[in-house]
Amino acid sequence: MNFTSNKYSRQSVLDEIGIDGQYKLHNARVLCIGAGGLGCPALLYLVAAGIGSIGIVDFDVVSETNLQRQILFTTEQIGQNKALVAKDHLSKLNLDVTINAYTFELTDDNAEKLFSEYDIIIDGTDNFAAKFLINDVAVKCGKPLVYGSILGFDGQVSVFGVENEPCYRCLFPEPPKAYVPNCAEAGIIGAVAGIVGSQQALQVIQIIVGHSSFEPLVGKLWTIDTHNMETNIFKLSKNNSCPSCSKQKDEIVIEYTSPVCGFVAEVTPEQAIENKEALLVDVRRPEEWNNGHIDSAVHIELSSLIEGKIPDLPTNQDIILYCQKGLRSIKAAEILKANGYINVISMSGGYEAWLETNT
Ligand SMILES: [Zn+2]
Repeated sequence: MNFTSNKYSRQSVLDEIGIDGQYKLHNARVLCIGAGGLGCPALLYLVAAGIGSIGIVDFDVVSETNLQRQILFTTEQIGQNKALVAKDHLSKLNLDVTINAYTFELTDDNAEKLFSEYDIIIDGTDNFAAKFLINDVAVKCGKPLVYGSILGFDGQVSVFGVENEPCYRCLFPEPPKAYVPNCAEAGIIGAVAGIVGSQQALQVIQIIVGHSSFEPLVGKLWTIDTHNMETNIFKLSKNNSCPSCSKQKDEIVIEYTSPVCGFVAEVTPEQAIENKEALLVDVRRPEEWNNGHIDSAVHIELSSLIEGKIPDLPTNQDIILYCQKGLRSIKAAEILKANGYINVISMSGGYEAWLETNT
């Protein structure tokens, strides 16, 4: 790698970055959770800046309502997996950067292993369940976490996960009581997401380069109200009874429940059985299918839908999707709906509930 090449000259000419800083950026591994309103601008700037290795986690597909702020995506990509589309776009921007796309949902099962492969984590998610999971795993793994959040005209950025410093749970010990998954998405101006995502990219660069003049937002919360562009930096204090960072690392319990959105029609197993005209589709993994399935069902794995392999299904009859417990089938229905199918329904309770109904 030639760090004196023209590509990075506009940043390496800065005393605070220099050739040394560029070298550090090239050796850094950054994991971005969510390629949405925050992830898109953050990823564009980090890839352009020459971060050596970037991971993108997103199991969602591009939808029309995303395009107003998720600036990595185009109209033709509606229905395709965001992590894969983002990787394709970003790979063309900078050939120096290794980009890994992860098309699965981040959960308590896979997060620790994934975080261990990166130096810094970016939270580009929009729901509390994911934010608490990301915080707890970052604290447990001892990885700096660049947090960002947007709501309406307001934005927030901070850095959590640093030893002996406050974490997200010091601020919010539990999800709010009246917590509604953010699937419906409160209103947001794309440019506000751009401000916060860019700020997150800058925090990542500051942490990696580590020049003495940089003061990343560790133990501090930066806020902006874009009605009047008022910004503030609040000092955060560590909560000595924080359910996450006050514990020994091996005592931190990682728990996660996937938020479920309410835009997919659902039927009970009884209603599914009565609907004799419907096509039943099992979206579980092959081993689950092999362990038993509804006789009349066809098998189309959720992961193949996430990868963009959309099968030709009938449009003149109901398509009832089921999984093991009724969560993955909602995701599958959302993907099919994003690809133009309007006749998709999820079976609540999944195969387990169907078995109970039929025994
Ligand atoms: Zn804490």
